[in-house]
Amino acid sequence: MDFTLSPEIEDYRRRVRAFVETHVMPLEADPASYDHGENIAPEPLARLRAMARAEGLWCFQMPVERGGLGVGTVGMAACYEEMNRSLFGPVVFNCAAPDDGNMMLLEKVGTDAQKARWLQPIVDGKVRSSFVMTEPHPGSGSDPAGMMLTRAERRGDRWVVHGTKWYITGAETAEHFILVARTSDDPRKGLSCFLFHRDDPGWEIVRRIPIMGPEEHGGHCELRFDGLEIADENVLMNVGDGLKATQIRLGTARLTHCMRWLGLARRALEIASDYVAKRRSFGTTLAEHEGVQWMLGEAAMQIHVGRLLTMHAAWKLDQGDFARKEVSMAKVAVADVLHQAVDTAIQLCGGLGYSRDTPLEWMYRYARQARLVDGASEVHKMVLSRNLLKEGKDFWAWG
Ligand SMILES: Cc1cc2nc3c(=O)[nH]c(=O)nc-3n(C[C@H](O)[C@H](O)[C@H](O)COP(=O)(O)OP(=O)(O)OC[C@H]3O[C@@H](n4cnc5c(N)ncnc54)[C@H](O)[C@@H]3O)c2cc1C
Repeated sequence: MDFTLSPEIEDYRRRVRAFVETHVMPLEADPASYDHGENIAPEPLARLRAMARAEGLWCFQMPVERGGLGVGTVGMAACYEEMNRSLFGPVVFNCAAPDDGNMMLLEKVGTDAQKARWLQPIVDGKVRSSFVMTEPHPGSGSDPAGMMLTRAERRGDRWVVHGTKWYITGAETAEHFILVARTSDDPRKGLSCFLFHRDDPGWEIVRRIPIMGPEEHGGHCELRFDGLEIADENVLMNVGDGLKATQIRLGTARLTHCMRWLGLARRALEIASDYVAKRRSFGTTLAEHEGVQWMLGEAAMQIHVGRLLTMHAAWKLDQGDFARKEVSMAKVAVADVLHQAVDTAIQLCGGLGYSRDTPLEWMYRYARQARLVDGASEVHKMVLSRNLLKEGKDFWAWG
């Protein structure tokens, strides 16, 4: 097996790294760089996005003919990790969730007309987007196929939607929405996927849900649908393919979370490494204490375990495999790695780690969502266990 990055990918990785260190990280220390959700404010974001595009560092996940870089999933793994060494990185390169996953889904399954209308403006950085699936109790969360209550009913050549959704990332700023709703009670083909625009009547944002961590742009919102009408042409894939579309979207989108989280985890250790190299206790630097070395060494090793899981899953996706098991394993492991790395860094930085003088406390609050979003860790482990019991020895096949 060859883990060498191609010269082209290595070049992109180095350029992303330099861009992040030169233009993005310096903003983190300035309170004026933040919006009210603790993400990058609109003015610096627009400026940096224009710079990233001018430097040819834009939409690594999209094919070249659509205006992206077409670096493949392995290339994305290398570059996304570098981007998210800054809190603000991925969105600057148009590689942040949820646009990232939404663009990949639309590129994979949209018709040409749907791509022109719904995808291209996201790629061009003109609009943001949301993916609308999760519902409050008693609706769908971990079990969308079994529990989805939002319904789309056919009336002539249109679909009429009623129901409630929540935790919809980006909804306050999004213009393009991908909605999953129930169109029949068929256990496998009961859900369908639709596209709608924020100006379409018949739905509203009930509230922006207050959360413990920093927010994506547009927050995490609760939405009510009360007669939203969607034309037939805006059904994504076929009626009944909602679950399939969701699986297609989440496969790669989950893995790009891992790529980004590994960058944040690395940054946390960089901050801690700088601190322990110069701070002294009991006659020597912290870095000279064996207890500190074990903490740093353990965290570094776990980050690399996460990278290997992520790279392996990325490589399998590039071979045309769905890599469901590999993506699940990476998602569970890297969510924990992120949390552990930031926790270790805070501990090693002492009181400073708990302050807002470094980005560590931002990362710590952010990290807690990783074990919940795009499938709770327990649900991924359940799926892995089902696979193990079904496949037996084949579970471990390399091919
Ligand atoms: C920050 C954030 C952003 C999000 N963004 C979006 C978005 O943009 N669009 C969207 O549609 N959704 C979004 N979500 C929702 C997210 O995908 C769900 O929270 C997640 O799928 C879990 O669903 P739930 O919250 O309903 O948990 P529930 O289904 O109520 O489960 C609660 C807990 O029960 C346990 N559990 C559930 N099933 C099992 C099982 N089979 N075995 C063992 N334990 C189990 C798990 O510990 C789980 O955390 C977001 C959530 C967060 C926190």
